[in-house]
Amino acid sequence: MCKYLTLFLLGALCLSSLGCLGAEENSVQEKEDSTKAVVQEQAKQELPKLEVVHKPIKWTEQREQLIKEYAQMHYGKDITSIVPQVVITHWTVSNDAESVYQYFSSETMPDDGGGRLNVASHYLVDRDGTIYQLTPETALNRHAIGYNWCAIGIENVGGVDGKEDLTEAQVKANISIIRYLQAKYPTIKYVWGHYQQHEAESSGLFIEKVPDYYAEKIDPGPAFMGKLKEGLNDLNLKFY
Ligand SMILES: [Zn+2]
Repeated sequence: MCKYLTLFLLGALCLSSLGCLGAEENSVQEKEDSTKAVVQEQAKQELPKLEVVHKPIKWTEQREQLIKEYAQMHYGKDITSIVPQVVITHWTVSNDAESVYQYFSSETMPDDGGGRLNVASHYLVDRDGTIYQLTPETALNRHAIGYNWCAIGIENVGGVDGKEDLTEAQVKANISIIRYLQAKYPTIKYVWGHYQQHEAESSGLFIEKVPDYYAEKIDPGPAFMGKLKEGLNDLNLKFY
């Protein structure tokens, strides 16, 4: 048995060092390139599986332009994309995913003092746990004052009248999304609910250039966040 194990290990080693035959013929550069490819392939394989329905919202030059203006106005940054550092969860205050999708698809909203870019999130999770991806993960979306420059947003259908009614299927889906994102973007160190925006300022990520631009939030409630924290406690993520 040991003999076979040794042979197997030797075989595995050979594979990982790019083949037993002719290895010496490879130039150092080729070796490095191939090793890189192997490492990248391994990294890909290690990403947790995430079942999503791709349902992109309308993405136009106008949206791009409005994002640019928003980033400049609120963060003093010339960006339209983000390096994700936090995942912020929300509820939609509605019971219908399609109407949320339609609402987010519009590029503009009435100016509330913070510009005309409409709100949007990266993910939308339906009551039955179906995950819709609405924009690329690194798009700058308007969903959390002070943090849009570094935050991926997950909206959950529910929370009508402020009722903490998000489902177990939604808890599970959010956990899967966050596991996937954290594996893909090791820059993500935080997860918080929208209502925790003040406590979260201690992360050092809060930036807001518009004075007194602010909105009090209660979504998605402490019960939901407690369940996420429990389901993700094996990861090195900071919760509030
Ligand atoms: Zn919210």
